[in-house]
Amino acid sequence: MTRFVFITGGVVSSLGKGIASAALGALLQARGYKVRLRKLDPYLNVDPGTMSPTQHGEVFVTDDGAETDLDLGHYERFTGVHATQRDNTTTGRIYADVIAKERAGGFLGATIQVIPHITDAIKDVIRRDTADHDFILVEIGGTVGDIESLPFLEAIRQLGNELGPEASMFVHLTLVPYIKSAGELKTKPTQHSVKELLNVGIQPQMLLCRCERPIPEAERRKIASFCNVRAEAVIPALDVSPIYAVPLAYHNEGMDREVLRHFHLPFEGEPDLSRWHRIVEAMTTAEGEVHIAIVGKYTSLLDSYKSLAEALTHGGIANRINVKLDWVDSEIFEKPDAVSRLDGVHGILVAPGFGERGTPGKIEAVRFARERKVPFFGICFGMQMAVIEAARNLAGLPCASSTEFGPCDTPVVGLMTEWAHGNTVVSRAVDGDLGGTMRLGAYTAVLAEGSLVRSIYGGAESIEERHRHRYEVNVNYKTRLEATGLRFSGMSPDGELPEIVELPGHPWFIGVQYHPELKSKPFEPHPLFASFIEAAVKQARLV
Ligand code: GLN
Repeated sequence: MTRFVFITGGVVSSLGKGIASAALGALLQARGYKVRLRKLDPYLNVDPGTMSPTQHGEVFVTDDGAETDLDLGHYERFTGVHATQRDNTTTGRIYADVIAKERAGGFLGATIQVIPHITDAIKDVIRRDTADHDFILVEIGGTVGDIESLPFLEAIRQLGNELGPEASMFVHLTLVPYIKSAGELKTKPTQHSVKELLNVGIQPQMLLCRCERPIPEAERRKIASFCNVRAEAVIPALDVSPIYAVPLAYHNEGMDREVLRHFHLPFEGEPDLSRWHRIVEAMTTAEGEVHIAIVGKYTSLLDSYKSLAEALTHGGIANRINVKLDWVDSEIFEKPDAVSRLDGVHGILVAPGFGERGTPGKIEAVRFARERKVPFFGICFGMQMAVIEAARNLAGLPCASSTEFGPCDTPVVGLMTEWAHGNTVVSRAVDGDLGGTMRLGAYTAVLAEGSLVRSIYGGAESIEERHRHRYEVNVNYKTRLEATGLRFSGMSPDGELPEIVELPGHPWFIGVQYHPELKSKPFEPHPLFASFIEAAVKQARLV
């Protein structure tokens, strides 16, 4: 039987609902169950692909090429289960599908309404492809009380009723603030938030209470009795660090036990949490630190590079070293001598990005890393910057640029309008839509014999990594660029699209057109990040 756990949030946003859901997934997995996580987002964008990373955070790309919410990254990092297109839906997507069906005459003359047509569509999305799973955890984005989330809440209310309590459960995440002047924890916001849920017909069976301090037993009972929840199912969720200790903390508070008890499943015995103990132990006992400069444009909201920051941390776990991230806005390098800001860092990562603003600084950062022999990692846009830098400063092409910044005579990076995906050719119009039209998802790269990347990937001849880009290093400049020493060590199987460049003779200089950070897990650090941090450790011994 497939059981559904619906996770809603109350009081305020940013309480960490994504991590809480992911941690519950990890706990159920540790009990031997097969889990899958889904996210329903109440905004009107069809997907987050066109949203600014400084507003909405990173866009997480799945193997099958969906542009999804960053919470799906937490789900993958905590459970190792790769998400698909079907695991993230928005109000915009639901409406687009329902309206398309209406235009095609699919409703046979009916009046199309939020209830039942939109709610039915939401329920279908929640239930599709769930048969071979024990648990489906469904996180509802936003905060209870928002106008936008109402159709989603109505849909899960109906679904709860249809499935019955033996196959459904509602978990509500709230805040129990500590009021310093009164020296007290306050339960009122939680009571009000549960009231909001009751207004839409949902009685939660578990409350996950985010708080800064331990919740005394008396307060726990008070919340339980006011909110109609068993006292044992009022789970205090204190801030913990590192975030990979969250499954351990929730387990200690009885979360997995209470979920299993709700479903009448055996809850005695202990889950196998050895993976999480190992990770936390590696992180808390790490000695020494390396400093990594992340040069990018969206450094004002660190969520814009969430997976990147996590993958670097995983590299630290692999090397048992603390990784200190130094976020650098590339625009600062446009001032004279500002590049000295990078003096003494042990590794430089030029981040993914879009648009011309900030690129001169990124190119300066690549040059600094190349000339000073500091480990360099260029990801997606970062690889494109590395190629432009080599073209301008080594290949004698001073006007080398990307057509992303306007027409140019030396397009070492150019717009892709056609590329191979397996045996099919994907085409795009130059002036086509921006949403969902990049080269997205998993593609194969063939690794050159004797290359650094091939040894990093354990000798693999080819790899599959996730992509999200519209422009591509122009293969017509390959020979000219290789004459400078830059090696094209990874190519698409047809040899048309450069996937990886590296610089032999440099301690560690790699640019990749894909996003390795999306596949890194704390229990399985991505080999490129593990190797980059290893190179930074060597660098730290030198400086
Ligand atoms: N802007 C570049 C492109 O579209 C790089 C994208 C990225 O870094 N994700 O090709």
